[in-house]
Amino acid sequence: MTRKIDALVIRAGVAGLYQLHQLRETGLEVHRVEAGSDVGGTWYWNRYPGAKFDSESYIYQCLFDERLYKDWTWSERFPAQPEIERWMHYVTDRLDLRKDISFSSKVTKAVYDTARGRWAVETDNGDRYDTQFVIGCTGMLSAPLTDRFTGQETFKDQIVHTGRYPKEGLDLEGKRVGVIGIGATGIQVIQTIAPMAGASRASAAMISSARRT
Ligand SMILES: Cc1cc2nc3c(=O)[nH]c(=O)nc-3n(C[C@H](O)[C@H](O)[C@H](O)COP(=O)(O)OP(=O)(O)OC[C@H]3O[C@@H](n4cnc5c(N)ncnc54)[C@H](O)[C@@H]3O)c2cc1C
Repeated sequence: MTRKIDALVIRAGVAGLYQLHQLRETGLEVHRVEAGSDVGGTWYWNRYPGAKFDSESYIYQCLFDERLYKDWTWSERFPAQPEIERWMHYVTDRLDLRKDISFSSKVTKAVYDTARGRWAVETDNGDRYDTQFVIGCTGMLSAPLTDRFTGQETFKDQIVHTGRYPKEGLDLEGKRVGVIGIGATGIQVIQTIAPMAGASRASAAMISSARRT
């Protein structure tokens, strides 16, 4: 079944929260789709050890709503991923956005019909939308680069990407760990896992932080 709406917002990061709220405030019928199973965008996917803001928390705020701003207190100047993810839930629930979001729903096709002046949008779980506006806020760092390195397919042990780090975490205790990429993420990972990783030859892991920009 195709759902007819005014606007479709693709994604559930900070910009998506704002877009959905603002467009609803204008009286439009808006829906939002997100490939992940919950809100957070960057802070839903990037749950690697040491993940945290590298800018100060006071700038990551919904300043358009004084209540929202005043009712939340960050515990740190540079909060860690779990707290940021809680904040995204706090904003989502305070603005009552969840009812207008479909999760685990990745847009795979969007075709503009010039004659009708409308979009036909399809997602990977079979949802269909007929909409006048499509707001694609898919983020600048949300697509991890995974298939990058010669010999990767023959690597005997585990390879994980920081942008798709397992929710249950990894047991890195005493493991020999290789980290690829020493940008902000690489530095956060290395300094956090170094105390637990070891030089034992028992087994190894490779952590990459390469992203498609
Ligand atoms: C590790 C890391 C640390 C960062 N630290 C900071 C910081 O300290 N300060 C700062 O200002 N910025 C930081 N950034 C930048 C951060 O990306 C932005 O601040 C902000 O979170 C981007 O939000 P967004 O809503 O634009 O997109 P994102 O949060 O990237 O959300 C994009 C969402 O779109 C979804 N999506 C993509 N394609 C589709 C599709 N086809 N269908 C459905 N859903 C789709 C993805 O699943 C994802 O959830 C950091 C980024 C990373 C990766």
